[in-house]
Order: sequence, then structure tokens, then C-alpha cells
Amino acid sequence: MKQNCDVCKSKNQKVDFSLKDYNVIKCENCGLRYIDQDSLKLKPEQLYSQDYFTKQHIQFFSDYNDIMSNKMTKKLQNFRKRLIRLKELGAKGRLLDVGCGQGTFLYLAKKENFKPFGCDISEYSKTFVEEKFNIPVYNMELYRLPKNKKFDVVTMLDFFEHTTDPNAVLDAAKNLLNKNGLLLIQTPNGKSLLHNLANLIYKLSFGLIKNPTKEVFHMYHNYHFTKRNMEQLLKERSFEILDYKQDSLPIHTVEGNFVKKGLLALLYFISALINKQIDMVFIAKKI
Ligand SMILES: [Zn+2]
Repeated sequence: MKQNCDVCKSKNQKVDFSLKDYNVIKCENCGLRYIDQDSLKLKPEQLYSQDYFTKQHIQFFSDYNDIMSNKMTKKLQNFRKRLIRLKELGAKGRLLDVGCGQGTFLYLAKKENFKPFGCDISEYSKTFVEEKFNIPVYNMELYRLPKNKKFDVVTMLDFFEHTTDPNAVLDAAKNLLNKNGLLLIQTPNGKSLLHNLANLIYKLSFGLIKNPTKEVFHMYHNYHFTKRNMEQLLKERSFEILDYKQDSLPIHTVEGNFVKKGLLALLYFISALINKQIDMVFIAKKI
């Protein structure tokens, strides 16, 4: 467990879920939840092997084949929506996508006239994106990028929750952005309906029923921020939040059988009605 909470610096933290292979810590002061890295056996470099993209999360990373066959799935449509929204807010020029994975967001960014660059700690990602799309990728942590590199837009779609150091990542993003540059972050909502249900099931069963909790708090997501957590992290770096919305994950990206997908579709529908959707999307300006 960290000495101080990454968001509010409080020491008032406890093990919230004990999930066999790792523990999830909760800050009692601000509600941030994170995986205790000391309890995890694998290191980040080992987590994101080729298997991560092509075997374990084959549904989530089907975009490359989709894009090549001109199939604009809901996930790719969402990517395009994010780019259009950025353009509406005045974004143009050099765009750095952090945690770029297989580069489909970068490919779409290029189509929307941005000059795209990727950043990913996965070697597989660098090779893949440079070979398939001819878009340069920095194979390193964001905070290792040379300080003289500057960008007009930094995007983090389903990346921020994977980092082990959110403060270093946001500091780096701020340093890499030009003045008035835009930062887009899409990350799970720590207070979503799914999070609340996972918490409830765990607590009501006294920690005996772990599986639903392990699905929501899986080992790849190190952090589960609340909306307030994100606002605090952005504002203390003088980012001005221009845009905030919630969204649901496209069902076609979810691994599992039709029963699980059907149940999730229902829960996503209810989540949207009660404003507790699984994803939060922030766009903030560096001022
Ligand atoms: Zn806290």
C-alpha cells in the first residue's frame, strides 16, 4: 500500500477487496481505489505482451481487422466522435496518443488531419503501429519522453487507469502540451453502477463471492478514479475542464458469452438512466 493516497495525500487507507492474486486499496478520505502493486506478481512490461492484445483481449482489440475491412464498429465510431469533439474545441496539429495499443485511434486521427504520434510501453505495440500504419511510436513511459517534444493534443483512451503513477503521467502530459493544448482522458468511473454492484456483492458475501468484483476490478486497471478525483488531479495542474461526459463500453468489445453480454447491455442501459455509466470522458485545456 502507498503511504499517501495519490489524489488527496491522506494516509487513511484500507484493503477494500482481497482478491487472491492482488488487493484493492481504498482511500477512506477521497474514495480513490487502486491495486496494491506490492501484492501483484507481474510487472507492467510483462502484462502487455502480444498475448494481451491478440489472445486475452481479442474482442477488445478487434479494431485493426475492423478498420481494414471498413467496418466502423461502435468502438471506432466512438473514437471518431472523440476526435470530432476535439476539433470542435479548436484542436489541430500534433496529437500524441498514450497507450496507443494497435494504433487504430491514431489511424483515425490521421484521417481527421491530425499529425499522429503514439506512446506505449508495449514493444509489440510499437512494431505493430509503425509497420501497419507508418505512425511513429515512443516505446517508453510517457514521463521518459524528451522534454523538448511538444504536442497540441494528448489523448489517453482507456490508458490512465493502467498507469502505476498517475501524478507523473499528468505532469508529463502537461509538460508535453503546448499552451492551450488539449488533454483528453477516457477512464472508468469509480462510482459507476457496475462498481457499486461489485462492491455490494463483495461486502454482502463478506468477501466470499469474489468473481463479479474481480471482473470490474481486474488486474490490468490499477486505478479507479471518481469524477471528483479526476477534477482534483486536473485542476491542481491548472487544467481547465472544457468538457465532461459519461459513456458505456461498446458491448462488442466485452469478452464473454451472450448471457454475460445481455446482462451487461441491461446494466449499461440502467447506468445511462441513472447517470452512473462505466466510462468518464474529460477534455481539459492547459492554461
Ligand atoms: Zn484519497
